[in-house]
Amino acid sequence: MNDKKQTQYVIEPLRLDGIDNERPIIISGPCSAESEAQMLATAHGVAKAGVKIFRAGIWKPRTRPGGFEGVGAPGLAWLQKVKQETGMLVTTEVANRVHVQAALEAGIDLLWVGARTSANPFAVQEIADALRSTPDVPVLVKNPVNPDLELWIGALQRLYNAGIHRLGAIHRGFSAYGQHLYRNDPQWHIPIELHRRLHGLTILCDPSHMGGKRELIAPLSQQALDMGFDGLMIESHCDPDGALSDKNQQITPESLSVILTSLVKRDTHQSTESLSLLRRRIDRCDTELLELLNRRMRVCREIGLFKKEHNMQVVQAQRYDDIMRERCDQARELGMSPDFMGVVMQAIHEESVRQQIEVFSVSELK
Ligand code: PEP
Ligand code: MN
Repeated sequence: MNDKKQTQYVIEPLRLDGIDNERPIIISGPCSAESEAQMLATAHGVAKAGVKIFRAGIWKPRTRPGGFEGVGAPGLAWLQKVKQETGMLVTTEVANRVHVQAALEAGIDLLWVGARTSANPFAVQEIADALRSTPDVPVLVKNPVNPDLELWIGALQRLYNAGIHRLGAIHRGFSAYGQHLYRNDPQWHIPIELHRRLHGLTILCDPSHMGGKRELIAPLSQQALDMGFDGLMIESHCDPDGALSDKNQQITPESLSVILTSLVKRDTHQSTESLSLLRRRIDRCDTELLELLNRRMRVCREIGLFKKEHNMQVVQAQRYDDIMRERCDQARELGMSPDFMGVVMQAIHEESVRQQIEVFSVSELK
């Protein structure tokens, strides 16, 4: 992991005992551990579906009090039993030092930090400090609930700085106010940027918390694999309708098996000759775009000078309005998304205004 801070972060793709470099990494199991019988029935089902890592929440961070807050430490014994009976690795969510200590004492193989916790640097630091003496434990960090990449990277860095180098991330989408198609907005560009910034980091997708609905799990899972994610964390339950938490997004081990066998796994490493030709065309388009933007900005600066000389204000609302409307119409005619063009034009306009203001202040100094 190479980031601009002084520390050199070198993150290797996550290797898990008995899994090594096998991709996609599939983690599945219930949202919450509810009873020994529920855990074992679900675990045997998902093991049959080929899953090698079993998840279950023991301590549940619920948005509001009064819901099922997890069975707590007694659930760790059920995870141990799952491990003994199925041979799967087991994982649970930790949110503080007490959770970490109890999970490590119970021999939990890997830990994950939930979205509400990764948004809290104090909690993440406490977890990192509690892991200092056992740095070999792999830790997966979910994105913070809010779309803040720096906070997500900061959480990974806190763990790394405490000596925990077997790290991975889980993209589960971001909270937004109101009802939407997705329970948590994917904002795919954020994990893509995370991958660019922390090259080598293993990143999984959690389509269950992202979609919030059973029917969205298959398409989101495929989308994640198509985009090059290293694996998936999918919630499953032997009786989803009777689940004590997140019942709308949990699927039976049988449905999980159908999804897993129908997923198309993409080869991320082979680059063919025709792909590099296409990439060269993209590079040329980007160069042309840059030259065009540069030309446009020079014209903007000339306009800035003209406005200054004629004592006109920089932002002309009517002109901005006309440009936005016309460019969006032009985009639509070309079969492009007008929303996308709106975002592009907004960014270009912002920079044009900044350039003109610069021209104003430079000529002011003369
Ligand atoms: C979970 O995985 O059970 C969970 C609570 O998820 P998140 O932290 O993504 O909300
Ligand atoms: Mn859940």
